[in-house]
Amino acid sequence: MIEIDWKPDKKSKEPIYRQIVKYISDKIAAGDWIIGSRLPSQRDMAKAFGVNRSTVVTAMEELISYGILESDFGGGTRVKSNTWSLLMSQPPDWNKYIQSGPFRANLPAIQAINRLEYEPGFIRIGTGELAPELYPHKLMAKIFRRMPEVIPHLGYLGNLGLPELGKVLSQRLAADEGIKADPSNILVTSGSLQGLQLISVCMLKRGSSVYTEAPTYLKSLQIFQSAGMNLRGVPLDEEGIKYWEIKDASINSLLYTIPTHHNPTGTVMSEERRKELLQFSQNRRLPVLEDDAYGKLWFEKRPPKAIKASDTTGSVIYMGTVSKTMAPGLRIGWVVGPEAVVQRLGDVKMQTDYGASSVSQWMMTELLSSGDYDIYLEELRRELKDRRDNALAALDKYFKGMAEWNKPAGGFYIWLRFNRKIPIDKVFSDALKAGVLLNPGNMYDYSENHAIRISYAYAKPQELNRALGILANIVEKYYQR
Ligand code: PMP
Repeated sequence: MIEIDWKPDKKSKEPIYRQIVKYISDKIAAGDWIIGSRLPSQRDMAKAFGVNRSTVVTAMEELISYGILESDFGGGTRVKSNTWSLLMSQPPDWNKYIQSGPFRANLPAIQAINRLEYEPGFIRIGTGELAPELYPHKLMAKIFRRMPEVIPHLGYLGNLGLPELGKVLSQRLAADEGIKADPSNILVTSGSLQGLQLISVCMLKRGSSVYTEAPTYLKSLQIFQSAGMNLRGVPLDEEGIKYWEIKDASINSLLYTIPTHHNPTGTVMSEERRKELLQFSQNRRLPVLEDDAYGKLWFEKRPPKAIKASDTTGSVIYMGTVSKTMAPGLRIGWVVGPEAVVQRLGDVKMQTDYGASSVSQWMMTELLSSGDYDIYLEELRRELKDRRDNALAALDKYFKGMAEWNKPAGGFYIWLRFNRKIPIDKVFSDALKAGVLLNPGNMYDYSENHAIRISYAYAKPQELNRALGILANIVEKYYQR
């Protein structure tokens, strides 16, 4: 007969029944309690362990479910097996779990890029981020020094974010973009990605359509698809999206556009097209989601005003971010739209993260209130323009006759289209072997293309040139086949 001279530790964080499960299985594994031996009655065990009977029952049930114990006819319990130790030490079937959530995995190419971007040694010719050397250390140091006096507390903030930031954004949107928006029309988000995420879960039904330029940045993400929406590509020409090709816009659909310095093609939608698109959207009651991540980064001349600036009927939701002009690590963006929309998004935002970083919001308030930001932007535009010119010269040198590309009027991107079909996947891996990390065009598109997104914002100009030379050699090999 088995004797029990042990008690669970009631002060331990481990649940008492788990301690009992472990005690019994250890005893069996050690050979102290052999197969076939009978355990004391549940009442006696409860007494011996100094616990409630229900705790013993829970432990017994678990041990029986593992096949370690079995009930016998007399209502007692016996040791059944000691070969389970392997089984018990197995973790849950995490694979099943991680495939069960509704959010889709990233595209494999993006997963690879996300991993490789943090490995040293690659020249990154597609990265959509400002180079570390463009980070304005002095300006940021000045702003950060002021923070101890500026920040009164770091508590949770209201639905729409830091009111002071809402106010400056409202002033800036009016003065810089001609967009009339009260602070009650502005939601501060953790980057504009969060704006997209909130819209995808708050405003659209499963099965609804989201029209976008083809290609588009949005296609490289799984945000809307994960929420059950269909992305639909609409071709674009040099003036922007050919909205008239949308024939079947159903109720509850949406049009997402990046009108200025489009990602990935660099296109700027003409003023005329913006007006027509707004008219089209108003006629069809098709809301427009205008993503203006790159609007401030123009080189020779200012782009036409945002579509939102002419929106008198509340048809446009506008999104801005500091990720491309300043630093993505601040995670600050904003959504501007009708009050009811912004309130709804803010309500869901409160349930998911309770607000964007207050430190970043205070910092941006301070920065946007000072003229320093405008001076910095002017310098940044000049620097980016030089980098663009350098990239264009390198493309001329290495890709003339092999590919076509745009001359971007701002933003980060050149859309390099090869004249012939080439196996982009192979080019990607050949380039990796040669120390060049690139963004294949396919991930932004609805059908196969033979393009690459080049960004002149990240790699140092000299290195970008070198990488483009390497890339041209690789592509040439496939041209000769
Ligand atoms: N929109 C566009 C067009 C972008 O290119 C990016 C970043 N690549 C984002 C939104 C997301 O930016 P963030 O969330 O950092 O504001």
